[in-house]
Amino acid sequence: MQAVVLENFGGPENLRYVDDFPTPSVGEDEVLIRVKAVALNHLDVWVRMGALAVKPSLPHILGSDVSGIVEKVGSLVRNVKEGDEVIVAPGISCGVCHECQSGRDNLCKEYDILGLRSKGGYAQYVKVHARNVIRKPANLSFVEAASYPLTFLTVWNALVGKGKIGPHSRVLIWAGSSGVGVAAIQLAKLMGAFVITTAGNSEKAKRCRELGADMVIDHYTEDVPKRVREMFKEGVDIVVDHVGEKTFWKSVECLKKGGKLVFFGTTTGSYAHIDIRYLFVREIELLGVYMGPRADLYKITELFERGLLKPVVDRVFPLQEAPEAHRYLEKSLHFGKVVLKVD
Ligand SMILES: [Zn+2]
Repeated sequence: MQAVVLENFGGPENLRYVDDFPTPSVGEDEVLIRVKAVALNHLDVWVRMGALAVKPSLPHILGSDVSGIVEKVGSLVRNVKEGDEVIVAPGISCGVCHECQSGRDNLCKEYDILGLRSKGGYAQYVKVHARNVIRKPANLSFVEAASYPLTFLTVWNALVGKGKIGPHSRVLIWAGSSGVGVAAIQLAKLMGAFVITTAGNSEKAKRCRELGADMVIDHYTEDVPKRVREMFKEGVDIVVDHVGEKTFWKSVECLKKGGKLVFFGTTTGSYAHIDIRYLFVREIELLGVYMGPRADLYKITELFERGLLKPVVDRVFPLQEAPEAHRYLEKSLHFGKVVLKVD
């Protein structure tokens, strides 16, 4: 099959297009999907660079967010059939442990993300367990459908699961133009919250407002905690931080007493200085988020079907141009998702 193969860890040049990668064979409880589109995530960049504690064996295939058509199902599969249009829930877990059976599969001891250790969707075909296959919203194209699972699942876990967001909530979302940013702005608005976000230029700021952000701060030229406190003297209820080292403590400074910092992703580095006393005196909660329970993807998918959430696709590249797509993502020029189209 055609695939973009990661041969060595490092720059985008290590992604090589081949047309003779072995097509996966499916077990009795697995599904083979003919990939139509696969979205990029920053996770792809980390895996490509070999920058994570967990590394895949090489050659590897990246890609966590897949949409496509069911090509073949194992003999025990009942939930989908050949020809169905589907998306893939990117979280892979054992399915039988206590956490999995309690709906906390993202805490499974064997948890993996498609494209992290398992071979992902930068290919003509991908195989996953039947439990990872969900019907594609009929109102979305394949490109649009590939654009939402990982980011929306993570953001749902952050805002709804951990953050306990409600109409009363005041939320700060860093980097509103990113994949998780556009997801978080929409979801927070849908929940009725007041949304402050940050953007790196006026065009991105305008688009964040169009998505529903109530206030946009330029994170390059403005003092974010100061601006937040001009708006809300006591601070905000929830901060969504996926930037990491550069923003972590600023996020804490934006929170009101009893506020929650929900965090995942470390695009600027993974070490932060923390003043423990400041945290306990204010009863600040630090809540780590790693994707989210798979079941929430059904709720998210329904909200897309009902038109309450919208995919935000910035640019589409053909599969062969995966290295170019990575370079583009790393330049941070995008607004929303970068997607590879597979034919
Ligand atoms: Zn498990």
